[in-house]
Amino acid sequence: MTVRDNLAAIRRQIEAACARVGRNPADVRIVAVTKYIDAARAQEVLDAGIADLGENRSDQLLEKYEAIGNQATWHFIGTLQSRKVKEIIDKVDYIHSLDRLSLAKEIEKRAVRPVKCFVQVNVSGEATKHGLVPEETVPFIEQLRSFSRIEVIGLMTMAPHTEDEAILRACFRRLRTLKERVQVLNLAHAPCTELSMGMSNDYEIAIEEGATFVRIGSALVGSM
Ligand SMILES: *Cc1c(COP(=O)(O)O)cnc(C)c1O
Repeated sequence: MTVRDNLAAIRRQIEAACARVGRNPADVRIVAVTKYIDAARAQEVLDAGIADLGENRSDQLLEKYEAIGNQATWHFIGTLQSRKVKEIIDKVDYIHSLDRLSLAKEIEKRAVRPVKCFVQVNVSGEATKHGLVPEETVPFIEQLRSFSRIEVIGLMTMAPHTEDEAILRACFRRLRTLKERVQVLNLAHAPCTELSMGMSNDYEIAIEEGATFVRIGSALVGSM
């Protein structure tokens, strides 16, 4: 299957998921996760019509940025070490993994313009996952009030590795509820209108539960 074929299939699934819950497919953005592939194949993704590329490692992002540059909108989706911020900050448009104050401070210090950030929440509570515990999310976001270079556009989570639809759905629903709690605070620095949730195995459920950004790797580009 080519990237184009995979993309057509994914778009059909997105349309179906949206139809099931009365959403507009135009409100769901596909971030193509390119961590499994090289820059030449990432270019195929762009050529297939996806402009949003996601990387979870700074070295990989830099390598692909060198080849692709501003043709893509770049999303940093993985754990971000503070010392790597300066290397990537002028290249990325979105950071999906803001999970601690020290990282926020480093972004504030290094960014030359406001960066759209998702606050990552560890909804499932698994020890291996990064992110704030749900109860810390609102206080954390309130702490960012004075940060002029951070715009909290939404929340992000990674669901547990399970086929159990009920568990996945509960995880996504919890993130949506949290997002709504931030939204009603009407914070100028944190409109928090977006939900980054759903990957290759669970994006349809995530969309049914309100995802506006889905991060799709293997289903789109294979995982070799
Ligand atoms: C790899 C990765 C994805 C994509 O995973 P697939 O299952 O291949 O779609 C999404 N989000 C993050 C943070 C990732 O590291």
